Amino acid sequence: MNNKEIKCVMCGAQTEEAKDIVITSTIQSREIVITGLTGTRCPECGEQYVDSESSKKALEVANKFRKPAIVFKRKVTVSGGRRVIGIPEEIDRALGKKENVDIWLEGDKIVAEVY
Ligand SMILES: [Zn+2]
Repeated sequence: MNNKEIKCVMCGAQTEEAKDIVITSTIQSREIVITGLTGTRCPECGEQYVDSESSKKALEVANKFRKPAIVFKRKVTVSGGRRVIGIPEEIDRALGKKENVDIWLEGDKIVAEVY
């Protein structure tokens, strides 16, 4: 695909290749910033046009921030002096044999990446 042929829909100027496009998007009241996207930019008005590969990438990133449709509710209990959260059966099944977890905080969310 040749991006150089794209004319700006806002002002009609010839757009130029851009490799540093930044998109900010609000998903479920959280603002996310996606950087390093490619496409074209209008030198006249600054309007940006993300190419198909980058819009796919942006969508993937955005989807990570969306809450899943099913949310399990659990109470934090104490076991052996530590606070414990039980893994719901459905999620445990999906995890299979994976047993390593990286855990970090995002605001008041505990995020666990299992591998
Ligand atoms: Zn323009």
